Amino acid sequence: MFDLIVRHATLADGRKNQDIACADGRIKGIGAKIEAGARAEIDAEGYLVSPPFVDGHLHVDAALLHGRPRVNEAGDLYEGIRIWAEAKQQTSIEDYKARARQICYWSIAQGTLFIRCQTDICEPNLNAVRALCAVRDEMKPYITLQIVAFPQDGFLRHPEAKRLLREALDLGAEVVGGIPDYELTAEHGNRSIKELCAIAAEKGLLVDMHMDQTTDPQSRQIEALTAETIELGLGARVTASHCPTLSSVNPYYLRKLIDQIAQSGMNIMVQPMQAATCWGLMAPVGKLLDGGVPVALGQDCVLDPWYPFGVCDMLDIAHMAATFGQVLDTKRKAMLFESVTTVGARALGLEDYGLEEGGPADFVILQADDAVEAIRLRPTRLAVVRGGQVLSRQQKQQAALTLGTENLSVELARRQPVDVREM
Ligand SMILES: [Zn+2]
Repeated sequence: MFDLIVRHATLADGRKNQDIACADGRIKGIGAKIEAGARAEIDAEGYLVSPPFVDGHLHVDAALLHGRPRVNEAGDLYEGIRIWAEAKQQTSIEDYKARARQICYWSIAQGTLFIRCQTDICEPNLNAVRALCAVRDEMKPYITLQIVAFPQDGFLRHPEAKRLLREALDLGAEVVGGIPDYELTAEHGNRSIKELCAIAAEKGLLVDMHMDQTTDPQSRQIEALTAETIELGLGARVTASHCPTLSSVNPYYLRKLIDQIAQSGMNIMVQPMQAATCWGLMAPVGKLLDGGVPVALGQDCVLDPWYPFGVCDMLDIAHMAATFGQVLDTKRKAMLFESVTTVGARALGLEDYGLEEGGPADFVILQADDAVEAIRLRPTRLAVVRGGQVLSRQQKQQAALTLGTENLSVELARRQPVDVREM
């Protein structure tokens, strides 16, 4: 007797009509027709069952602050940083916690069960880090939060950042952050990369830095980060976030950089919504994928001082990456689905992830027929399961059309309208 069986699933690799049997929080079997009972069954009706989504980059500490204390009228990155500097002086630990919980609820409903939280440490009491660590522990059975010690005001530029970053790591942050382009000079930026990578190497931690957040092709700090990654042998433990200038450097230099990024083994983490709104320029996702670079995706902002939209939907992010990055062929579109699932998991260094026999019973049932369709539709998450427990359910979406005397049931996931008289 299993705890849960999902029947008639389509998997992201294309296998159809599969049953998924779960017990004790693990997937015990995947096969065409599992002849066994379970305490609960869900009929996936041929829809896609995917591993949970991974949001590789989100400022949870600033999320849902839109308009507090004022709206970012300029709509640019640096105005956002100034507003955030004001906002964080007025934010209590309870306020951080309440907004972080809300983000967790929305994310779970959207099938996102892993979030890397960029968390500002440039604040004397480290309230954001303390609050996020508490919510991480509280929400652990349902969603995994990974906390980056992020020196928003510059690791070298902010007078206390060096001490605060170490304190944040002692409090439980798992990832060393950085923002080299916000340091006083490019040379300071490169020095911050060296020092931050050394801390990560010393403590056996992951690295995720905000890189080259500008349209200036002279901003080339990604090169320094690849060099440091190679020299220290950090490989997949390192992630470079944003990197819009990879799309403004000349093609010869881009070729060199892509080879170097691939050689380093690091991940590139792209945030398409901010690429579009802050710079009108996004890292060249298609070329990076062609060059063998693992590209993960992050949401970055949800209703915060930088961005007035966001619904915690990683398929919305993949859709923007495909559209803005002109990644329109079937193969690479499918790779973008991996960017919000398996490649995101690689970037976060998740060890227990994947929809496979023996793996964790964590998955999402989507009202779409396959992975590429899921990016097109950004469909309803029919069920979200963690450790074999159903955390969230939603009704299938269908519209009932009345066109004169004709009544039709229309579903965006299925291309033929169904005449209800034949049902
Ligand atoms: Zn960011």
